[in-house]
Amino acid sequence: NAEKAKHDVVVIGGGPGGYIAAIKAAQLGYNTACVEKRGSLGGTCLNVGCIPSKALLNNSHLYHQMKHDSKQRGIDIQGSVDLNIAQFQKAKDTIVKQLTGGIEMLFKKNGVKYYKGLGSFESETEIKVSPVEEIEGTVKEETILSADNIIVATGSEVTPFPGITIDEERIVSSTGILSLKEIPKKLAIIGGGIIGLEMGSVYSRLGSEVTIIEFQPAIGATMDQEVATATQKFLKKQGFQFKTSTKVMGATRDGDKVNVEVEGVKDGKKETIEADVLLVAIGRRPYVQGLNAEKIGLDVDKRGRLVIDSKFQTKFPHIKVIGDVTFGPMLAHKAEEEGVAAVELIKTGHGHINYGNIPSVMYSHPEVAWVGKTEQELKNDGISYKIGKFPFVANSRAKTNMDTEGFVKILIDSETERLLGAHIIGPNAGEMIAEAGLALEYGASAEDIARVCHAHPTLSEAFKEASLAAFNKPLNF
Ligand code: FAD
Repeated sequence: NAEKAKHDVVVIGGGPGGYIAAIKAAQLGYNTACVEKRGSLGGTCLNVGCIPSKALLNNSHLYHQMKHDSKQRGIDIQGSVDLNIAQFQKAKDTIVKQLTGGIEMLFKKNGVKYYKGLGSFESETEIKVSPVEEIEGTVKEETILSADNIIVATGSEVTPFPGITIDEERIVSSTGILSLKEIPKKLAIIGGGIIGLEMGSVYSRLGSEVTIIEFQPAIGATMDQEVATATQKFLKKQGFQFKTSTKVMGATRDGDKVNVEVEGVKDGKKETIEADVLLVAIGRRPYVQGLNAEKIGLDVDKRGRLVIDSKFQTKFPHIKVIGDVTFGPMLAHKAEEEGVAAVELIKTGHGHINYGNIPSVMYSHPEVAWVGKTEQELKNDGISYKIGKFPFVANSRAKTNMDTEGFVKILIDSETERLLGAHIIGPNAGEMIAEAGLALEYGASAEDIARVCHAHPTLSEAFKEASLAAFNKPLNF
């Protein structure tokens, strides 16, 4: 005998898309529930994605700096600098716990009802919450939530590589690589995308020999080409080996080793790459398992994404879909924006996202960040543009930090001089790109940016100088 609870809005999935949608809905006065089956809130991003990976990136960077970069800065370390891998992992786990717990507090503060269990469609207006035995505090029995509005935010999962079995020990996914108990001497990574390169950075700094195996002729397919080339160069300098134009044929575990069979895309040359750990990082795919979307006939496209219109609506206007499980880039901030917009649509009939202004960041060192159009996109679209560039070697803050690799590149419309795209490779690029986003959103021209007073000495002066360079001349280069 299922208990029935009535809500204005029920959100399925407590990741960045779902938890933000739930909080926003409650703030707008809706009686809101969020169903999550993981046992903690925050989804992929907080539990096994953005947050743990950034904790490892930050601490591995500090370790590497102390070990290899302190002397020239005048810091003599007495004794050796050693890695305590157990504490290194614990620090990350603590951060994850604090942040996921923080969302539970936000739910309480805003009055969102949190159901721990698997959510599935019972009908077009009813969600069944079933107990998940493994998680603490799960619902005791099947519970039916009836809802005027349903928001599906079930996210994504690791795309498997056909024929390669993940054991999360020697052959790992992006989840297993976050919790290795020892540093592999040789780490092979299938896929030169952001996740592969970030995780490669972590372990390369900790001493692993990293080999990236990429089918395409170069890494960074979605980056501006000039920036992608520079990225590959910097990572190579850090010791990364790149096997581009290389096809993986299979991988097998042999005791404590993994043999990866590869073949040249152009010449068909076969080779075996031996590694201690293999990371499979070829992408993510939408996740709808257990949702029972077929019961009410929600449409799914060829790539497994739930189909929606420009108002996030499925064929049932009161059922909306946001985040990784539907169209668009699989990014936490994109899912969050959609969560807010979907709820605003329920409330007011309006809700808007500028998909042309969603930043991407790779948290390597130097960082890579971009927003808006790349040069290759502008060429394809036949738009006439001008380029402004400024290298960090000429930026005083980068100099004082002894961290001068990279440059800012901005692209503006030849005629109107409006900003069309910004591409930064350099220290703190991920923070700096926010200024480009603001400029892009409000249609700023390069001169508008260059006339804004930027604090000195800051890295952001490089963005101002690149803008100046785009329509006139830089002052400091
Ligand atoms: P998810 O975060 O996947 O959340 C969906 C939630 O729904 C999950 O918790 C799942 O348990 C739950 N769920 C699914 N089905 C049901 C059901 N039937 N009932 C109840 N609950 C259900 N993005 C960035 O923007 N920046 C980064 O730096 C970044 N780094 C990343 C690093 C890694 C290693 C990985 C793997 C991803 C990274 N991402 C990053 C991507 C980011 O994690 C996702 O884009 C984001 O989490 C998507 O949010 P979402 O809410 O759509 O889905």
